[in-house]
Amino acid sequence: MRVLIAEDEINLAQGLCFNLEQEGLEVHSVISGEEALAQYAAYDLLVLDIGLPGIDGFEVLRRIREHDERFPVIVLTARAAEDDRVAGLALGADDYITKPFSLKEFLLRVRGKLRQVGWYTGSGRHGPVKVGAALFDLDRQTVTREGREERTTVREQALVQYFLDHPNQALSRDDLLREVWGYTAGTASRTPDTFVARLRKLVEVDPANPRHIVSVRGKGYLFSPDGTG
Ligand code: CA
Repeated sequence: MRVLIAEDEINLAQGLCFNLEQEGLEVHSVISGEEALAQYAAYDLLVLDIGLPGIDGFEVLRRIREHDERFPVIVLTARAAEDDRVAGLALGADDYITKPFSLKEFLLRVRGKLRQVGWYTGSGRHGPVKVGAALFDLDRQTVTREGREERTTVREQALVQYFLDHPNQALSRDDLLREVWGYTAGTASRTPDTFVARLRKLVEVDPANPRHIVSVRGKGYLFSPDGTG
């Protein structure tokens, strides 16, 4: 699984990265709110400092929640004031750790959060699956395109599984939000579009003219395993 850390104290960020990597996670860090917003969707969990240069962690969290009600975020902050704590939770932080914190506590919270990430497990399909230009390895959670291997997030993996289990049928955003993200019906979110855009870059030979993950006007998406569109 992939974790993004947004923290401008470089020593702290490096220490957290090192310790999460020891847990077998793929970890990257950024030092600004802008970078966190641009990159978080490619990760399974965001560890978010509140006191960041530019847009602060509260604003980052608010903007993430506009698009995605459930993306896992653990907030780190030096502000222990009760009103900040309440503001953070009201904006939808999953968890809240006040600095200074113990490394042990931090690791427990991250592990707990990643365990909770609910996702579509589907048919229990295993092993490598070729879709268009990409080879997904569903056991190792990797995708290879043109010889370059990278990790997929839990949610990307879940979306691929769901498409594979429901080929050649129009799937609405509601279907995807309910089945892949576990949202209740009627939740308006553009989250699937973001994920589909990224999957198309992996799968489609020409992402501007998709043949495998096709848009169906007024409905959503249709997955075509053999690319007939
Ligand atoms: Ca800071």
